[in-house]
Amino acid sequence: MLKINENYLKLQASYLFSDIARRVADFQAKHPDREVIKLGIGDVTRALPPACIEAFHRAVDEMADDATFRGYGPEQGYGFLRQAIAEHDFQARGAEISADEIFVSDGAKCDTGNIQELFSTDARVAIPDPVYPVYLDTNVMAGRTGGFRDGRYQGIVYLDSTRENDYVPALPDEPVDLIYLCFPNNPTGSTISRDQLATWVDFARDQKALILFDAAYEAFIRDETLPHSIFEIPGAREVAIEFRSFSKNAGFTGTRCAYTVVPKECTAWDSAGNRQAVHPLWNRRHCTKFNGVSYPVQRAAEAVYSPEGQAQTRELVDYYLRNADHIAAAVKELGFTFVGGANSPYIWIWGDRDSWDFFDLLLDRAGVVCTPGAGFGKCGQGYIRLSAFNSHDNVVRAMERIRGALA
Ligand code: PLP
Repeated sequence: MLKINENYLKLQASYLFSDIARRVADFQAKHPDREVIKLGIGDVTRALPPACIEAFHRAVDEMADDATFRGYGPEQGYGFLRQAIAEHDFQARGAEISADEIFVSDGAKCDTGNIQELFSTDARVAIPDPVYPVYLDTNVMAGRTGGFRDGRYQGIVYLDSTRENDYVPALPDEPVDLIYLCFPNNPTGSTISRDQLATWVDFARDQKALILFDAAYEAFIRDETLPHSIFEIPGAREVAIEFRSFSKNAGFTGTRCAYTVVPKECTAWDSAGNRQAVHPLWNRRHCTKFNGVSYPVQRAAEAVYSPEGQAQTRELVDYYLRNADHIAAAVKELGFTFVGGANSPYIWIWGDRDSWDFFDLLLDRAGVVCTPGAGFGKCGQGYIRLSAFNSHDNVVRAMERIRGALA
């Protein structure tokens, strides 16, 4: 008799986005004449930059000719893309990362979810609250937690991100082995300073722990005092892995391309206490379970680093940042406590009431859809997240309506 992995039975069904869709559908059925503006989603709304589209087309044409056709590529990604990433995203910022430490993939979601496979099932895991749910659910699936009680999985060390700590969690006061951090943060939009990140790197070195640093929103950083990469912090190469994505800087959410950086010094330990390099293990996993991102997509991603691509992606991100700035200004005017809206596409607002009540209020009175913070963890209760991923016109109209409804 085949038995299932019972860890899957511990998973809490995620009703967040289906609940939102149901409430919006009910609202529209009751008020067919009222237009709803969605500021809930974390998906981009603008087209790929022209430089990416041109490179994409050229590569598709290459695939149409026997002379230039490409079959399976290197699982880790083509050298042209790995080299461009290493030079532009790291070496240009003084972070010593080489092309062979970069693993190109079809998404930061898969990579942040899969990476935990490399580590023992009894690893003590620290996860922020509120959180992008992938980190938590994949550790549940792997059996690193007990059951779900009072809104939390047993056995996880939760890193509370609250008003009290400015949405940057404090170091845990118990030993941990694996630490997930995400900055600029989804869902809060908070950022981490160089000194704060250095404190985490020192802590990880001290604990012989590893930081899994999700920098999917790195492109939104405009305050140049903030670190773009954990590898800008001295000592991080031994204790950190970084995840990046082309989803939010270049609009690749539907095109799919991302990468993970695993420095050669990055270390975990075997049960005999011997140092084991993580790089060859991730290389092995990647080559065994993944067959590479398609050639045209990698050419499109490479174009992000051309002079035109750099200008166009900056303009794309600036567009969303202008939306974020507009939302933040309106929310401030209304007197709400909030974080984010600068160096991030998200604005995390304290509603001083149940997250879903706040959601219903905005939908009923303003016809605006947000995301209830409670869907991201216990510490998200009382908050909502507004997203800057929409047209500027929609953002302006949404904030006018919210002002009208709440002022
Ligand atoms: N990491 C965070 C924090 C995200 O918010 C998202 C997507 O919303 C991802 C990773 C996934 O990125 P990708 O589209 O590369 O899978």
